[in-house]
Amino acid sequence: MHEFALIEGIIGIVRDSALQNNIRKVERIKLVVGKLSMALPESLQFAFEAFKAEEELFHHAVLEIEEKEIVCSCGQCNRSFAVEDSVSFICPWCASGSVEIIQGRELYIDCYEGEEC
Ligand SMILES: [Zn+2]
Repeated sequence: MHEFALIEGIIGIVRDSALQNNIRKVERIKLVVGKLSMALPESLQFAFEAFKAEEELFHHAVLEIEEKEIVCSCGQCNRSFAVEDSVSFICPWCASGSVEIIQGRELYIDCYEGEEC
């Protein structure tokens, strides 16, 4: 379950930032998770619930996840297109297989909100 390690890292980053900014209570964390990032939103939520129970700073925090579609750009005709299933990476316009993934691998904290003290 690498989602636990991911959440641990995310909590660490938010904790450091919250301490620096005198935030005593984190209310919302927004994550951007690409569909190719190999992290399942349900598993991230599950891991987050486990971690937040142990730390007062996060007791009331809500994890929001924005999923990003997989988008590729074709090396042949330069058009971009969304990929529904992560199996067929072929350009729907010219059937070329030389495509580059331009979105879908991201996993980062978009923002977080808290109460200052
Ligand atoms: Zn193409």
